Amino acid sequence: QGVQIKSPISDYLATVVSQNSKDNPGANAAYIPELAAVNSDQIGACVTTVDGYVYGAGDIDVEFSIQSVSKPFVYALAIEEHGLAWVLDRVDVEPSGEAFNELSLDGKQLPKNPMINAGAMTTHSLIGEGTMTVEQRFEHIRKGLSKFAGRDLGVDEGSYSSELATAYRNFSIAYMLKNYGAIKVEPADVVKGYTRQCAIQLTASDLSSMGATLANGGKQPVTGEQVVSPETVRQVLSVMTTCGMYNEAGHWVCEVGFPAKSGVSGCVVGVLPGNIGMATFSPRLDEAGNSVRGTRMYKQIAKEMVLHMMLPP
Ligand code: GLU
Repeated sequence: QGVQIKSPISDYLATVVSQNSKDNPGANAAYIPELAAVNSDQIGACVTTVDGYVYGAGDIDVEFSIQSVSKPFVYALAIEEHGLAWVLDRVDVEPSGEAFNELSLDGKQLPKNPMINAGAMTTHSLIGEGTMTVEQRFEHIRKGLSKFAGRDLGVDEGSYSSELATAYRNFSIAYMLKNYGAIKVEPADVVKGYTRQCAIQLTASDLSSMGATLANGGKQPVTGEQVVSPETVRQVLSVMTTCGMYNEAGHWVCEVGFPAKSGVSGCVVGVLPGNIGMATFSPRLDEAGNSVRGTRMYKQIAKEMVLHMMLPP
């Protein structure tokens, strides 16, 4: 177990990374100043098997902020804490078809799913709702994500303060949520905690291990810790399949064919249940907010390695 320096799989990933390095279309996320300034030449791809072997190429040890990729993992922690039925009474699971940062609720005044900001901030607030302080909630989340990764993860303070200083949109969403009774925690505390959650720092190698924990029914392949239950994983991967890739989720599932979640820092985690976790990192995004070269690498690897989950074995 551990990083495999020389293997046909890492050689293959090196080829994919090199083929995809020839151009670099798209643009870094501009609305978070710290992300706009990230070196956009970086590119990496990493795969972790459910038995804990790690294969990677390119910039797999460069740290970036997790951003929206935190959402499915915090959703998993909320389900573990409260049970699925209770969580479903607070956050729905229908694809929204709207922008990730839309101020919207469904007919029952619930956020439409946990992958858009309204649902993700509500999910964040469910952690220790009524029992934890703001600091305890964040620490529970940081520790929980660390268990998925198999190592202690820190926070990119620059990214946190840079995003918080201009988080007017997320403040609007949080006040809307409070107004309609969707969250019980104070809106400003939810925005701060959620923004800090998005600033948790990790590498593509960490992220592929987090994906492998989901692929492995919630058991971290290297530490052996059962982080969440297989039932929780089933729910999380289902929601990632339908809502994980912004408004490209439909195209993604047709072409790549397995659940994934992307974040505005340019990272994408993918999960092939029972097989592998995967992560790509390349900062420039397309119109939908997904990493251009990350998406390209997933499509290429899924096709060449025949990974689409709807194909017969
Ligand atoms: N922190 C970012 C936001 O809330 C995350 C967005 C994303 O990665 O989709 O706007």
